[in-house]
Order: sequence, then C-alpha cells, then structure tokens
Amino acid sequence: MSARLVLLGPPGAGKGTQAARLSDRLGIPAISTGDIFRANVAEQTELGKRAQRYMDAGEYVPDEVTNAMVRDRLAQPDAADGFLLDGYPRTADQVDELEGMLSADGQRLHAVVELTADTDEVVTRLLKRAEEQGRPDDTEVVIRRRLEVYAEQTAPLAATYAARGLLVQVDGIGGLDEVTERIMTALAPHLN
Ligand code: ADP
Repeated sequence: MSARLVLLGPPGAGKGTQAARLSDRLGIPAISTGDIFRANVAEQTELGKRAQRYMDAGEYVPDEVTNAMVRDRLAQPDAADGFLLDGYPRTADQVDELEGMLSADGQRLHAVVELTADTDEVVTRLLKRAEEQGRPDDTEVVIRRRLEVYAEQTAPLAATYAARGLLVQVDGIGGLDEVTERIMTALAPHLN
C-alpha cells in the first residue's frame, strides 16, 4: 500500500512500538530519526558525534543536520512507495522541509497520527524503560527536559496538520493491540 504517514506524540507515548506494528500492517518502512541518530552515536560517525551532545541533554539536534539526514533516508528505494516517519518532523522548520521534499516529487502526506498520553503516564513509562534499557537520555532530569521541548516545539505541529486536514488523534493509553487497532481504524478514511 502506498501510504505516507507521520507519527507524532510525546516521548514515552509508544511511537516506536506502534511504528513497528504499523509498518508490518501497511507494508511500509518505519523511519525513526531517534533510532538513526542512536545508531550513528553507537558507531561514532560524524553525524553521531554532532548529534550526541544534544541527545544526551534532551535537546533537539539542529534542524539542518536532521533535515539532511531525513532527505537522504527518504531517497532510499524502500521509501519510494510510502513510509511512516516516527520522530520527524518535530519543528515548524522540519514541517516545511518535509513538505518541500515531498512536493518536489509530486507527493503528499496522507495523514499525521498524534498519539496522546498524559505527562504522568509517559514519565512512568520512560523511567521504567530507563531501568530496562539504560538509554542515556532516560534519566528523570533529561526526561523532563524532553517533555518541555516537545511541548514548546512539537505539540504545536498538531494544529498545523489539523488545519491541513491531516491530523488523526489517537489515545495512546491502553493495551498494545488495542492502540494499534485504534490507529488502523482512525487511519482508514485517509488511506486511499
Ligand atoms: P523520544 O523518546 O524522546 O521521542 P527519540 O528516540 O524519538 O526519543 O529521539 C531521541 C533524541 O534524538 C531526541 O531527544 C533528539 O535529541 C533527537 N531527535 C530525534 N528526532 C529528531 C528530530 N526530528 N529533530 C531533532 N532532534 C531529533
């Protein structure tokens, strides 16, 4: 299926988990900017070295770095017929950049899914993940900062996409299967 989708939502809302499931269901690659950055940090590539200090502090990596990375990724053959972006766009500038990348190829987004979850729930989930996985940016101080940056820079994008008729809001609290079904149901009218 050809679907070009964006997954929006605060850290800890379950974007990564749902992105993998939706990718299977829809047969499109899930592209997570956080995962790509982490892989680059692990390998200590130039990109990884540039991104690491921002990530460790819970700040966004500068737009020019992130935009160039996504542009390269979307040019890969597996993204030609569709994709699910997890963690991009996160700023107004990234929204414009993505729009530019797609329209240059005569393409458009089909929908933007916003996964909602309240702050107490996401902090609890992230602290649990910190114990299980030890991600360096899952300390309480950095989690609070990530949530602040999300509220300031990314939450407003929901209104931008709502104005374009693309926003689909889904409650991210519930069982994994339940949330996947909610997303699939909400997306159906946008996938044609
Ligand atoms: P989260 O659980 O906070 O949603 P991600 O795995 O999506 O985490 O991202 C981890 C970090 O990678 C972010 O805190 C940020 O530093 C960086 N990052 C990921 N996507 C972007 C983006 N679109 N723009 C800027 N920085 C990003």
